[in-house]
Amino acid sequence: MSLLIRNGTVVTAEKTLAADVLIEGERIREIAPAIPAGAASRVIDASGLLLLPGGVDVHTHLDMPFGGAVSSDDFETGTRAAAFGGTTTLIDFAIQAKGTRMRAALDTWWKKADGRASIDYGLHMIVTDLAGAGLEDMDALVAEGVASFKLFMAYPGVLMADDATIFQALSRTGNNGALICMHAENGGVIDVMVKRALAEGKTAPIYHALTRPATAEAEAVHRAIAMAEIAGAPVYIVHLSSEEALNQVREARDRGLPAFAETCPQYLLLSVDELARPGFEGAKYVFTPPLREKHHQAALWEGLRHDHLQVVSTDHCPFCFADQKALGKDDFTKIPNGGPGIENRLQLLYHHGVNEGRLSLNRFVEVVSTTPARIFGLYPRKGTLEAGSDADIVIWDPLAEHVISAQTHHMRVDYSMFEGFRVKGNARTVLSRGEAIVDGGQWLGRAGRGVFLKRAARGGAWK
Ligand SMILES: [Zn+2]
Repeated sequence: MSLLIRNGTVVTAEKTLAADVLIEGERIREIAPAIPAGAASRVIDASGLLLLPGGVDVHTHLDMPFGGAVSSDDFETGTRAAAFGGTTTLIDFAIQAKGTRMRAALDTWWKKADGRASIDYGLHMIVTDLAGAGLEDMDALVAEGVASFKLFMAYPGVLMADDATIFQALSRTGNNGALICMHAENGGVIDVMVKRALAEGKTAPIYHALTRPATAEAEAVHRAIAMAEIAGAPVYIVHLSSEEALNQVREARDRGLPAFAETCPQYLLLSVDELARPGFEGAKYVFTPPLREKHHQAALWEGLRHDHLQVVSTDHCPFCFADQKALGKDDFTKIPNGGPGIENRLQLLYHHGVNEGRLSLNRFVEVVSTTPARIFGLYPRKGTLEAGSDADIVIWDPLAEHVISAQTHHMRVDYSMFEGFRVKGNARTVLSRGEAIVDGGQWLGRAGRGVFLKRAARGGAWK
């Protein structure tokens, strides 16, 4: 099977050019102007459309247990929703249960994805316990293609790792070439503030934000980078939300340290005001780190533009408002932490980034696809359009307008964090390894066609 996409504009992180793309089987064979139509058995006309490398979302939580609930999208509904929004690769998180081997968690998550994922996926491992054979397990996982580990500096007693554990994990990556991802918030301080709030009868959703100050994030980012510097390892800060935290990353990078960070659309576009909505509505915006005061947004966009931030992911972790968020009706600490977004990342970044003049088209591609693929050992198979790369291609209509709404989205969740946002620019056709899985709003993919991606160690963060 061969497919020719003619008359489109190819956009990569480096260049924008009018060219045709010839696909043979699952891969791109050639990108060149005026490839003869006879070269392929099927032709798509992409006049007036952009050809983007498929989006790479390196932070999702599908089918994830959290505080008595399970995130409402599984690998079937979540990967399908991702594809509708132009994301063709994701990296989800397996979670090591305390006192167990990491391999068991990997098997559990493979089982969740198997037969369900419709786009290609990789896995990070969340480390909760390095006692016993933990360090050897890290090496073994890298050999399985799980070349990144996430540790938490927050959620004491549940997920939090102490500094010794974090430092050991960072040090180990010098041998095995993995990348450590940090959830950076000072969990001890937050825990005390949360207890104080509850003791004072402050139980509404807004207190979720008021008990997790930006300084607690900045402190942990600083500490994470300092430990990585001592260990001689790179570090990747997940879901960075505040200007103070961003300053820590920028200062480290200015000193030449291999410190990297992602932010998410919610931190670029929403503010803490959402948590103060009347009634219990604020619970829809309860996730960590919390939404910040509005002024942080401009700082994050600037950071993204100047490469102080390298990646935009979603931290997609949906919980339904009606029966899951409701668990915290009388106590904000019982609201499952997370929000939906896997479908809307490219739409929001294109509209608010490219259309509004904050990001160039090439920078947009870089932060939603190329850099995440590079950092996490998937490049150049994913993250770019080049001869030899997987034919994960988004045929993007820059003029398509729509209003984001839970009424029309494909995520299995009963609300949208971006309800009513009008955006211009959307995926028209989405190819995954040469196969059209979305076309004109129709689903053509199938559960189980996505494959597990073994990722290379010593990815872009090590170079
Ligand atoms: Zn997360």
